[in-house]
Amino acid sequence: MTQIKFYNTLTKKVEEFVPNVEGKVSLYTCGPTVYHFAHIGNLRCYIMEDILDRTLRYAGYDVKRVMNITDVGHLTSDADSGDDKMVEGAKREHKTVMEIAKFYTDAFFSDCNKLNIRRPDVVEPATNCIPEFIHMIEVLLEKGYAYIAGENVYFDTSKLDKYYTLSNQSDDDLMIAVRDDVDEDTNKKNKADFVLWFTKSKFEDQALKWDSPWGIGYPGWHIECSCISMKHLGEKLDIHCGGIDNIFPHHTNEIAQSESYTGSKWCNYWFHVHHLNEKGGKMSKSKGEFLTVSLLESKGYNPLVYRMFCLQSHYRKPLEFSYEVMDNIKAAYEKLLKTSARIKSQSDDGKIDITVFNTYKAKFLDALGNDFNTSMAITVLYDALKADTNNATKYALIKDFDQVLCLDLDKEAEAASVDAELEAYINERINARAEAKKNKDFATADAIRAELLDKGITIKDTREGVVWTID
Ligand code: AMP
Ligand code: ZN
Repeated sequence: MTQIKFYNTLTKKVEEFVPNVEGKVSLYTCGPTVYHFAHIGNLRCYIMEDILDRTLRYAGYDVKRVMNITDVGHLTSDADSGDDKMVEGAKREHKTVMEIAKFYTDAFFSDCNKLNIRRPDVVEPATNCIPEFIHMIEVLLEKGYAYIAGENVYFDTSKLDKYYTLSNQSDDDLMIAVRDDVDEDTNKKNKADFVLWFTKSKFEDQALKWDSPWGIGYPGWHIECSCISMKHLGEKLDIHCGGIDNIFPHHTNEIAQSESYTGSKWCNYWFHVHHLNEKGGKMSKSKGEFLTVSLLESKGYNPLVYRMFCLQSHYRKPLEFSYEVMDNIKAAYEKLLKTSARIKSQSDDGKIDITVFNTYKAKFLDALGNDFNTSMAITVLYDALKADTNNATKYALIKDFDQVLCLDLDKEAEAASVDAELEAYINERINARAEAKKNKDFATADAIRAELLDKGITIKDTREGVVWTID
């Protein structure tokens, strides 16, 4: 199995990935809260998680990936403000909460599809798992990790030796870090405690409620990810991923609940994607008009240009969105498609050179296996396209690398295929040059080569015949 190294938020180090079961990976992803369209910041997170997923598969692992859909129970997040988001969405659009959830879940996967983000093997809405949430909360109460106060069930963080395992937070930070502390929840025994089950909250107009041993109510946000992960991936998880804003409190609380429930270590590797920012700061939905995939399309961008935009920067660095950079990447992407189309059309020029193929494949995997250096992986692709080898080998490498990059280099190449007129002109000049060489008229042959070069077209004589490239 190829070695994959990446930064683990838990240990704060780049580490070699070793799964619990050889060759198999259990991977959990926090899914979207479906009250509105995803903005392209959210989608940066899912694109880079897709790279994690696809790299592991490319390296030969058998990956099972699970994602939740937060259609209820997103409360206690520090991002919450004002009204409940799902209820707000339903009011805004004069629909029911479930209609809103269905509409925006479909919209999310349609965006993912356009960005070539692989659909996880299991997608589970929180509303499907109420009995599982109730069971986990019952066990936490039995074990003494939870308590009832003010008709809600709370997790008791003082029962843990190490609560802040993921973040460098302290109790004092919570004064500003957690919104529900700012709102002063007097039921709590400790500042960091959080709600597992609500029957009474300031969000009284919650549309969806269920019966429970503690009265009619609804779950807290954090419990859903612990339960959905364990439901499909068992009590030991290899990798958990999400955006960096999820490190605290969401992922910290997931660890607290899960490990108190099982009595042992839950997840070994934590993968976090940094934010996409706008000039004014972090991209968010609360800022009124926000950037969506549809908006990019309406401005004439293929969504895959945005995928390439994300791949050109490292997932552990904040990324600033700008149309200027998008335009540069759009030009580079279109050129890449043209080059791929030409290589594809000339790929019957010999057998695949396995040595060359394996050399570039190893470099590609090395870039990805080194903390998912996607911009380096794209550089390896460019190097391969310029390599001193036949088009059959280059075309094989394009198809191979695109299993991870997923820029549709093979598929879109057809559409972007080099202008037929230009191709006819090049072929005519190549034939005229061959004729001149046959007649030992080397001056004319050289002049034709120079004429083509002037237009950015390079021709090369190979054993298989003349091949050409366009800058
Ligand atoms: P949400 O739908 O708000 O739960 O967010 C879905 C995912 O997007 C979470 O994993 C967030 O951490 C992530 N996220 C939110 N805002 C951004 C941003 N500006 N850039 C990158 N990821 C983000
Ligand atoms: Zn989650």
